[in-house]
Amino acid sequence: MSEWPPHVEACKNCTGESVRYAHGSGEYCNRCYNLLKRIKDVQGWDRSRPETLKWIPIYKTYGADGRPNSSVLFTNSLTDNQFEACRKNYIRKIEARLVLLRYREEIRRHEVEVNGLKLEETFSEILRLIRPTAFYQGKVSFPSYANYLADQFDEPQRRVIYALLEEVIEQVPWQGVRGVWSPPPAAPRK
Ligand SMILES: [Zn+2]
Repeated sequence: MSEWPPHVEACKNCTGESVRYAHGSGEYCNRCYNLLKRIKDVQGWDRSRPETLKWIPIYKTYGADGRPNSSVLFTNSLTDNQFEACRKNYIRKIEARLVLLRYREEIRRHEVEVNGLKLEETFSEILRLIRPTAFYQGKVSFPSYANYLADQFDEPQRRVIYALLEEVIEQVPWQGVRGVWSPPPAAPRK
């Protein structure tokens, strides 16, 4: 792993302190640097040069015997316009991630104002991480705590709780870019 240059105290994108995060390159932590590098990769996608099509997932196709017989890029069936839309969308999602990393640092430094609703949303985010089906299938509705949280804790206290909860959420690895591809044809059922 490379060392931070001595004069750099924080990542240029996320503002995370260099004592806290591993160095990526230049003035960036490794998290931001990897995302910025990925944007460059995606900008370099060229459909006539398959070796440039990094980060595009593949799916398997199945023969009559039910076994996978080839691997196909998710974007193969797209028109050029659709492909460009995918590229834009993909880059937008990485940029959103870069913004989120900076926002997390602001939370950590207690610079973000936190009302009851924001705190409630963060609790439900944690519930969603623990039990994804709780929301997706509408089986459990999270109780509305916003007013309770606002009554029980004053704003500086809410900031502290919020920062602690965000620390927990941050432990969950990033799922990567999702939802930018057209769905592949369904594999035949056995
Ligand atoms: Zn960073």
